[in-house]
Amino acid sequence: MNVNWVRIQNKYDNLCLICGKIVKRREWVDWLTDNGIRHVDCGEIFDEAELLQLKALGYFVRGKYEDGREFYKKAINLFSSIKIDPDKSRALMVVTDAEEIELDIPIPQDEDEHNEFKDSWEFEQEIDDLRRNKLFDAVKEKEQSSLQRIKSKQLDITKSVCAFLNAQGGNIWLGISDRREVIGLDGDYSSINNSNKRKFDVLTQKISNVFGKYLQKNYALEIHYIPHQTKTGKEILQIKIDALNQMDEPAYIHVEGKKIPYVRKHSSDMPLNDPEEWYHYRIKRFTNLKS
Ligand SMILES: [Zn+2]
Repeated sequence: MNVNWVRIQNKYDNLCLICGKIVKRREWVDWLTDNGIRHVDCGEIFDEAELLQLKALGYFVRGKYEDGREFYKKAINLFSSIKIDPDKSRALMVVTDAEEIELDIPIPQDEDEHNEFKDSWEFEQEIDDLRRNKLFDAVKEKEQSSLQRIKSKQLDITKSVCAFLNAQGGNIWLGISDRREVIGLDGDYSSINNSNKRKFDVLTQKISNVFGKYLQKNYALEIHYIPHQTKTGKEILQIKIDALNQMDEPAYIHVEGKKIPYVRKHSSDMPLNDPEEWYHYRIKRFTNLKS
């Protein structure tokens, strides 16, 4: 992974993203903006294991399965040398074999033109871990930027909805991490206290309110909320978005007085800011060119 870890002296007791264990104040750590910290040792081993995993993948892709397996095994062994706390580590997916994920639904292998994975709607697992470990200084620090992070995540999800509407439709899988780890909806459910209503209904209502705010239209016919359950009992939400009809008006994201059309390209949501580019896209995709 090409990310910028910075070596700093830890400001307060916190949890290591890799092993999930406590890192003491003043200890030297690697820090990643908006993510957290990791032990220097854990980081070195993890990066090395990830590199081996990439090499393995390279061999698999070229059909050299024996070599691929060899590197994959090395990666697993290396990663297993870190003593991790399975409940708190954020790095477990390295040892999660794809076959171990037992699902009763055909979740795609990867994000693509029609599929987007999101771990949660508003729940932040890391803050929860810190709180359970009574690391309240770290909780406070994280919480200060929490609202902003959640807001921008929800806007991102709405951009995907907009892009799917304008392109050829798709699914947002809520409760699945972008590395296809099954997280479930329990985190998002934990903040819902209204016992008169089904938690599923409350959550989908929250989601559809945010969609309505940014899209400035209620796409009730196009957006479907479908609950699923995995074999291990975790709940997943499939938000299924149908493509707009060619007679419809395109969908836009409305923020700060601007309206921006999004389209789906491969596994990304792209704003079509350039008027000419958007004009050509519209002519091909939509027959109605009134606005
Ligand atoms: Zn660690």
